[in-house]
Amino acid sequence: MREGSKFVRETLAVLTENAVDYKIPELTGERVTPHSHLFDLSHMTVSAKAPIVIVGAGYVGLVTGVGFARAREVRLVDRNARLIEDLDAGRMPISEPELEERFNDNRDRLSFFTDLESALADQRPQLVFIAVGTPKRAAGGRRQEGEGDAANLSAVHSVVDELLLHDGVAVVMKSTVPPGTGRAILERAEARGRDLPYLSCPEFLQEGAAFATFDSPDRIVVGHSGHSWASDALRELHADVHPWLQGEHSDERYMEMELIEAECVKHTSNLALAIRITLANEIGNFCEESAADATQVMKGVGADRRIGPSFLKPGVGFGGSCFDKDIRAVRAVARADAGLDLSLVDTVISTNEGQVERVVEKLERRLGALEGTNIAILGLAFKPKTDDLRGGPAFTLATRLRRRGANLRAWDPEPGARERAARNHREGAEPETMSTAELARSALEAVAEADAVVLATEWEQFGEIDWCEAAQAMRGTLVIDGRNHLDPEAVRAAGLEYEGTGRESRGLLRPLPEGATES
Ligand code: NAD
Repeated sequence: MREGSKFVRETLAVLTENAVDYKIPELTGERVTPHSHLFDLSHMTVSAKAPIVIVGAGYVGLVTGVGFARAREVRLVDRNARLIEDLDAGRMPISEPELEERFNDNRDRLSFFTDLESALADQRPQLVFIAVGTPKRAAGGRRQEGEGDAANLSAVHSVVDELLLHDGVAVVMKSTVPPGTGRAILERAEARGRDLPYLSCPEFLQEGAAFATFDSPDRIVVGHSGHSWASDALRELHADVHPWLQGEHSDERYMEMELIEAECVKHTSNLALAIRITLANEIGNFCEESAADATQVMKGVGADRRIGPSFLKPGVGFGGSCFDKDIRAVRAVARADAGLDLSLVDTVISTNEGQVERVVEKLERRLGALEGTNIAILGLAFKPKTDDLRGGPAFTLATRLRRRGANLRAWDPEPGARERAARNHREGAEPETMSTAELARSALEAVAEADAVVLATEWEQFGEIDWCEAAQAMRGTLVIDGRNHLDPEAVRAAGLEYEGTGRESRGLLRPLPEGATES
């Protein structure tokens, strides 16, 4: 389109917008997208394109919303009024690199709501993303084995039910839902006489690098329900932020498939990553007993191009809100729907839980009974560069140490993580609370008078600890590096004993001191 054709451009913008407003696709079944492929509208203003709605403004919803706000008007909905109030006031509810800057850059295209109805009030939104939580079903009552592992989809269903009252919207499922959920939702819609345009678009963001994952995804996976206008609109939205989608071979990264296949991709990816960590941990445990260093072993293994180096580090176990929950959910679905036993999942879960237990064992083997000992825990977030505490091994460790009567003091360099831990503690939001653990104001304060220090998160800042100063402040000498993140020589040079993970473990090879209990 040549310069000066403002009138034509504006008219087209109005026409294409109206196609959405008047729900033409619903009435005619024709393919209508906010742009026409016949005209180059690339310089059309973003406000002229259909807004999107995202329900759930947590880690996934907020990052997705801020990411797409570069190209579209985005309406974020969350039932948590405090969170919406914070966002409206420009206060970031989570800590994520680049978030605040990108939020501010796109502030005029972001709006916030506590109810879906208001976000849909002008009937313009075409794509409604669901990014609400899908936690494990709460344990309790008399349940069959593994039943509590199934995903709790109540939030997802309540949003879908509300959307069924609206015409002209397509649901895009970002929340991680077990394979078969999309199909069940379509059946639910059909039972109410609705032909719901529904897409599965699983999220693969990595907290701590969420915008890097958003900007440069390894792949975008989309599962369809057969409404091509909805698929086209979603592809178009992605193309607005990913120019590579306009180019050749884009289908290699933008993968369209059946609904259930897309759902399976998400769970299988999480399982694959968890299996790699399990491999590193199991080989690491063998190395500890064999005076070998698993970091060397895994370096050799990962150099094989068929295998690759990522997710092959032994450690205190994976945490986070996804891996454990999602692999349990897929195991539960496989059992319930197909009578299959995903025994791999059992191994992954038990090895992971065992990693924290090994730290407790190491402590006991060195210190004897832990009753009355002082243990410092460095790192609360489940991984660096986030304030997300969910599923963090630090908390599993704290719970087990507390049961044995140890006094705990913890520190995390991320203020948001410390605030969350303190708030969870105040509000009794187990398990991500340090409960009786004292939250220190610095790493040095955490290690003061400690008999042992355990590093649970590989924050860069822990590499800068002055171990000579730490040694002077400590009561004991043991440093357990649950992430192989510290420089063993620097720790040893300060007169301390360094104990890594998956490396020769002198502690474990020694007999148990008197009074220690086998776990
Ligand atoms: P989160 O807990 O940070 O955010 C979920 C938000 O949804 C909360 O703010 C909550 O208040 C809101 N919510 C719940 N029910 C609602 C309702 N009925 N209406 C409106 N808002 C509602 O969770 P998250 O980490 O963003 O994860 C969301 C989904 O994405 C989950 O299914 C998760 O498994 C999946 N996922 C998460 C990640 C991640 O790294 N966090 C990565 C990939 C996939």
